[in-house]
Amino acid sequence: AGALAACSDEREGDDTPTNQATDGTGGGGGELIGIAMPTKSLERWNRDGAHLDELLKEAGYKTSLQFADNKVDQQVSQIQNMINDGAKVLVIASIDGTALGPVLQTAADAGIKVIAYDRLINDTANVDYYATFDNYKVGQLQGEFIRDALDLEGDGGPYNFEPFAGSPDDNNAKFFFSGAWDILNQYVQSGKLVVQSGKAPATNDDWQSIGILGWGTDDAQAEMENRLNSFYTDSKVQVVLSPNDSLALGIAQALESAGYTPGEGGDWPVLTGQDADQANVLNMLAGKQSMTVWKDTRALGDAVAKMVDEIVTGAEVTVNDTDTYNNGVKNVPTLLLDPLVVTPDTVESALVESGFYSAEDLGL
Ligand code: BGC
Repeated sequence: AGALAACSDEREGDDTPTNQATDGTGGGGGELIGIAMPTKSLERWNRDGAHLDELLKEAGYKTSLQFADNKVDQQVSQIQNMINDGAKVLVIASIDGTALGPVLQTAADAGIKVIAYDRLINDTANVDYYATFDNYKVGQLQGEFIRDALDLEGDGGPYNFEPFAGSPDDNNAKFFFSGAWDILNQYVQSGKLVVQSGKAPATNDDWQSIGILGWGTDDAQAEMENRLNSFYTDSKVQVVLSPNDSLALGIAQALESAGYTPGEGGDWPVLTGQDADQANVLNMLAGKQSMTVWKDTRALGDAVAKMVDEIVTGAEVTVNDTDTYNNGVKNVPTLLLDPLVVTPDTVESALVESGFYSAEDLGL
């Protein structure tokens, strides 16, 4: 049984709160906690949802765990149902961080506390806490990896380079891009990294121009195929910045169809990622992805379950950053966790020894 086996069997759009409280040991006296996740289509959100759900039930809470098929309207109505059902706390990984103002006003009027999970919720006063991995650092780790793998500080280059960015409606995507671009843009400017497609944002703020809406694997594949067909008929791409694993998967598929070969003597480019999704870890072991930034979703779940308990019992809520994440209305008290680089060489020590995957999951 691997991480995937832990996926819950909740269906997208089915918003009946079916989970019953168990005799837990935490502060939960059977209160309802709403957990709104963006989609089942990405492995990580299944894991996030299932883990948090289990922890809260163990602590004596009832839960309503919902996935919204990446549709904003669906997420809003799921949250509205949680409010109607009397939730005490809402844990929300938003789809569009700017679209929840009205429904969160309803929550605030009902005295419900809101934790933004992984993604900040913007333009509303009615978000009480934020728990996430350090998003800027995720991008920084990707940028540093590329810099060091290609020796850009030394004699490395010029290299053909293609950058990608995440979904324009996801508040995290701009942090990922900024973290990476603060390191890589200087090499684009100096000519050590050459973007044949011309799709190199001039500044961090221009990142949305290369964003892949909805983080879709197929869209990333199509975009990479376009760039390869239009700009790489006589040359090879040597490095690709991908902000996460769902995009890296599509980029790898495009490279594969274009005839790039991994391994010793091959011409596979350096390719980054994020999340340590199973398919991507397998790709890393096969030489088709160079690294992933691993965010141990179990740690995030543990931290958020603790936050929920602190809120419900009236204890002081644990945060470690109060001035970085401004949502346009206020600084949201944040609990930041540390992401970690995993490479093919550290898959076993980082992902298997920690129990995130079994050796069997990865064919080891
Ligand atoms: C998350 C990433 C994830 C991406 C796509 C981001 O907000 O932080 O972990 O890869 O969304 O779902």
